[in-house]
Amino acid sequence: MELNKKNIEELFEQTTLNESNEKLLQNDSLLNVQIFGNEVILDFEISNPTLQYKKKIEGLSTQLLQKKFGEELKVKTNFSIKKVEKEVKIQGNPIPGVKNIIAVSSGKGGVGKSTISANLSVALAKLDYKVGLIDADIYGPSMPIMFDLVGESPKAIDVEGKKKMQPLENYDVKMVSMGFFTELNQAIVWRGPMASKALNQLIWDSHWGELDYLIIDLPPGTGDIHLSLVQAIPLTGAIVVSTPQDIALADARKGVNMFKMDSIDVPVVGIVENMSYFIPEDLPNKKYFIFGKNGAKNLAEQLEINLLAQIPIVQSVREASDAGRPAALQNDTPISNSFINFAKEVVKAVEARNENLPSTEAVKITNMKGCS
Ligand code: ADP
Repeated sequence: MELNKKNIEELFEQTTLNESNEKLLQNDSLLNVQIFGNEVILDFEISNPTLQYKKKIEGLSTQLLQKKFGEELKVKTNFSIKKVEKEVKIQGNPIPGVKNIIAVSSGKGGVGKSTISANLSVALAKLDYKVGLIDADIYGPSMPIMFDLVGESPKAIDVEGKKKMQPLENYDVKMVSMGFFTELNQAIVWRGPMASKALNQLIWDSHWGELDYLIIDLPPGTGDIHLSLVQAIPLTGAIVVSTPQDIALADARKGVNMFKMDSIDVPVVGIVENMSYFIPEDLPNKKYFIFGKNGAKNLAEQLEINLLAQIPIVQSVREASDAGRPAALQNDTPISNSFINFAKEVVKAVEARNENLPSTEAVKITNMKGCS
């Protein structure tokens, strides 16, 4: 195949991604192609402004062109951000009656994000706040198990002539879950718009009534889906969960940076260090720093954000979650007190945030020009 503009354009038009059969440039356009000897410059217009996405398109383009035209070919990419006003389904009004919406996220899976979300919700309810919880973890909705609500589904009710979904309730927490849209344990692959639509439904079609806190357990990561979920909600703030391990901290940093991007601009309420240390039940005076010591604490200091809690690894936390009774429900145990103190820190940080900063608006993609 000859190296020319037309052939390159056709190549991008025809190429699909292996795993999904989607076009390589599904939502994006190749605006211009310039060829100088063995160097090709590609100008893209993309709808996802994240650095990760740009790197992905750059990597795939280089791979594609070098495969067709030889390894020695140099590929350079330029990106501009597409205005996608019409595609964005932002329903940016605050939810009537809901005072604070807090997203709980983590850079990496398995660090205890869902455990932290469940226990934070229960602890806030124990402190007499009115609490709702949305399980938006599309990769493994686990709240129905943690709240002992497996097999239950929310009922449709009529509120002032509109069909609404009545959240399920346990331990004084109103809960809805992505798990309601799928069978438990059934792996489903959500695409961005599907996930966004389902989350929108959970947020806006649920009859929350009056809430002090609506906690949203987001999927892990900072990818496309995550971004589209964040765009759907006018968040008061975000909490990032990490273990003290270097590899988790690197991802937590990315998570914090995503919320801080000019175009997203969601205040980070703070970071929670989970699995900070392990105390064996039979040796209560011993502490083992399995994943390293104070990693998230140091990260919080570096990023100048609050460290909200350091939660130890305790067998009963895992057992309580699996048994459908989050550990924060225990009466005056060291671990339940850790969760209560964590909830108090969250309240303090959110109140400070509300005093000092204006309400967050749902992200408008049209403002995203110029972010990298
Ligand atoms: P994520 O939502 O980040 O994927 P989970 O909340 O599902 O992570 O937690 C992963 C596993 O670790 C679960 O089995 C959970 O019960 C366990 N776990 C989380 N935090 C703790 C903790 N502090 N002590 C003991 N087990 C924990």
